[in-house]
Amino acid sequence: MSDPDEGKTGELTLYGRSVSRGVTVGTALCLYGAKRQYYRREIGSEDLDRENGRFSSAVLAAKEQLSEIASADGGDGNQARIFETHILFLEDLSLLRQIETMIHDQRVNAEWAVKTVIDKYVTRYKSLSDRHLQEKYIDLEDVGERILTALGGGGENSYSLDSDTVIIAKELNPSTLIELSRKHPAAVVTESGGWTSHTFILARELELPAVTGIRQLLRSVETGEKIVVDGYGGKVILRPAEDTLEKFRSPEKETAAAGSGSVDPEAALETLDGFQITLRANLDITRDFTAAARSGGKGIGLYRSEFLFNQFRGYPSEDEQYESYLRIAEEANSHGIRIRTFDLSINRVAVGIDGREKNPALGLRGIRLSKRYEAEFRTQVRALLRAASMHSISIVLPMISDCEEVKWARKIVSEEKARLDSEGLEHGDPEIGVMIEVPAAVLSIDRILEEADFVNIGTNDLVQYLLAVDRDNEEVADWFRTVHSSVLKSLRIVLDAARSKEKGALVCGEMAGSPLYVPILLGLGAREFSMNINSLPRVRSLVSKIAVEECEEALEEIELLPDGDERDEGIRRIFQEKWGGLVDFDSLLSFRRR
Ligand code: PEP
Ligand code: MG
Repeated sequence: MSDPDEGKTGELTLYGRSVSRGVTVGTALCLYGAKRQYYRREIGSEDLDRENGRFSSAVLAAKEQLSEIASADGGDGNQARIFETHILFLEDLSLLRQIETMIHDQRVNAEWAVKTVIDKYVTRYKSLSDRHLQEKYIDLEDVGERILTALGGGGENSYSLDSDTVIIAKELNPSTLIELSRKHPAAVVTESGGWTSHTFILARELELPAVTGIRQLLRSVETGEKIVVDGYGGKVILRPAEDTLEKFRSPEKETAAAGSGSVDPEAALETLDGFQITLRANLDITRDFTAAARSGGKGIGLYRSEFLFNQFRGYPSEDEQYESYLRIAEEANSHGIRIRTFDLSINRVAVGIDGREKNPALGLRGIRLSKRYEAEFRTQVRALLRAASMHSISIVLPMISDCEEVKWARKIVSEEKARLDSEGLEHGDPEIGVMIEVPAAVLSIDRILEEADFVNIGTNDLVQYLLAVDRDNEEVADWFRTVHSSVLKSLRIVLDAARSKEKGALVCGEMAGSPLYVPILLGLGAREFSMNINSLPRVRSLVSKIAVEECEEALEEIELLPDGDERDEGIRRIFQEKWGGLVDFDSLLSFRRR
């Protein structure tokens, strides 16, 4: 990776990792903030009162939250003392005035003024010699983040982007990307975030070129600067010279076989040796399904319902969910839709929890959070049951690690059915499946299959948990090895168990949409795949041109390879020899080395 301080004038190329294909020449827009992300925005004098009003309401909301948290601790514990210190910051008139003055004098948005003034205070605290005072900067940063989060509550966000905007951020939240996507940005570049992080799953769904893994990016780029994003080569070029711009304005097209054109949506897909394969689409945002149907997508294999959370800024009501599920199910064709119940972590639903879970991926999330927030789970179940009276809808439970969790969810579903009956409301009888993404679920698959109607195999989390590699952390991306022997063994266990119990098994992680992994999955016995709509044509085209028998042979060779780089290289060689005429595996691997 390049040194960001290497000259701030003239062309500079920074290397990272491609996470979504495409090339863009655009203008940088730097985003700041963790939970709530924002940028510097100039406002007109007519908006000054509104902006100051937003700021005062945010301070008030932050104070209320803190008082609530402090009193929840009994009012005399350590936590209470910390939060009382935070309240004192929110009552510091000099701090508040400086922020108001900045909004007024510089005509900037409240977020920018909060960030600038808090940063100034933080620098001052850090330079103090008294250790105790010096450490106050941590509290101040916390307070700043709380005000910024409160500034995002309620009302429309005021993002307004030019059509060539390249979003630059340390890490981009999926919710921010969803909001920004309504203004059609041109590309995304971040310091961190992995191939399977939701942000980049979305970027690929939105067909936005994206590059990640560029260290200290925000120190190198400024809002308004020209930037080239090369989502094939995994690099960005800052302050590009005219001849560089020329080159990237007419980029070479990707060489991998794309597979395009429309197919009969009802036509069966078969491998060369006659195995029937089903392809479905993953959906995160409500989107026209016709493109998926045109590419032979048979319904929606995974709808991540937690994305509704962004739209409604919190738990949507039963009716809001019911309407949304109906809308999405109408889009899908007669093959139906699998809706996953909210796969959220505690910090998304409760105020003041940020930072309290050291390992959120191992914390109160998915089905565990549903058990803690049972009323909200029941609301979702009711909405799903009602929508299932009109459409073919199945329910998928996330983050399952034992069969008791499935039994618990089934019990709730039957209780809510009985309640709907007693209220005279129509409901369907959806199948209930589970996500297999936790290693414990792999090892207890036989018991889980006694309770579940089908399984959705989530390879993104399965790889993360098997290899103990954070899927969102670019620093450990080299350890995120999708073809690690433990991953392939786990997949075989699940696929074999499902087949012997005659239950459906759908692979729906990012692995299912890659021509690099599809032959491996076919060799392991997978027959159902669900993927990003844009991946459907390529996967469909490849599947129709290869034989399962060849995939099994290739897998036998792969299984002899040791884990690590040698395995990746071996796969490239084996695939290039077998199917090099169909897909350019070399370029696929150089695009993404995992
Ligand atoms: C997975 O874990 O593979 C999956 C499909 O779910 P998500 O990416 O939403 O965690
Ligand atoms: Mg998952």
